[in-house]
Amino acid sequence: MKKPIIIAGPCTFGSYEELYKNATLVKERGIEYLRAGTFKMRTSPDSFQGLREEGMEMLLKIKKELGLKIVTEFTSIEQVHKYGDKVDIIQIGTRNMYNYELLKEVGKTKTPVILKRAFSATYDEWIKAAEYIKKEGNKKIILCERGVRNNISNETRNMLDLQAIPYIHQKTNYPIIVDPSHASGLSYMVEPMSKAAIAAGSDGLLVEVHYHPEESLCDKEETIDFETLDHILEFIKKEK
Ligand code: PEP
Ligand code: MN
Repeated sequence: MKKPIIIAGPCTFGSYEELYKNATLVKERGIEYLRAGTFKMRTSPDSFQGLREEGMEMLLKIKKELGLKIVTEFTSIEQVHKYGDKVDIIQIGTRNMYNYELLKEVGKTKTPVILKRAFSATYDEWIKAAEYIKKEGNKKIILCERGVRNNISNETRNMLDLQAIPYIHQKTNYPIIVDPSHASGLSYMVEPMSKAAIAAGSDGLLVEVHYHPEESLCDKEETIDFETLDHILEFIKKEK
């Protein structure tokens, strides 16, 4: 099996210094891909929405300075037009999986796309959403399982559907990665669920990490520290 792709970084950031420190710690571990959101899709309009365009300039500066590949979410067609060819992977978030006009626009770029599963989407709906991208010409699509809503328990944010991994492998040619952070919403579950995802054949992980998780401006409860990330990386090294 191919080496899993590891994408790590903070959910979002409030300053260049914060981003730079996290990016340096990601790079030090030999990780190629930095994730960080600057156009945030928050449940409440009163929550921090990301540094937006200003943050995008910071991400592009980090790319140049540290040579890291940038993975970030776009939430509008305008952002895709403006920055689509400047980043290394475009992330489409769970709330936009059904935004077909956005998917079509991403499909017109040549940039790889991570398509997160909507938290209530069936496998079929998810695969058909990927087809909206593919139909426009962009075939570099990575599916991402990030947990689905369930009505059994509300102790975790979502429930990680590991069955998505063998299903997608069986039925499609798309690679599939797992985001264990948004799945549970709890940092202590990220390491065991990352290991489980790798054991189940995931093609990679998208993980939220911060040097001081409690200082994260978004999703601090699910954000792991770098020591925990090291445990996950050691496990992957042994496994593969
Ligand atoms: C994220 O990756 O920070 C994010 C908002 O993810 P999701 O769309 O899965 O909630
Ligand atoms: Mn997040």
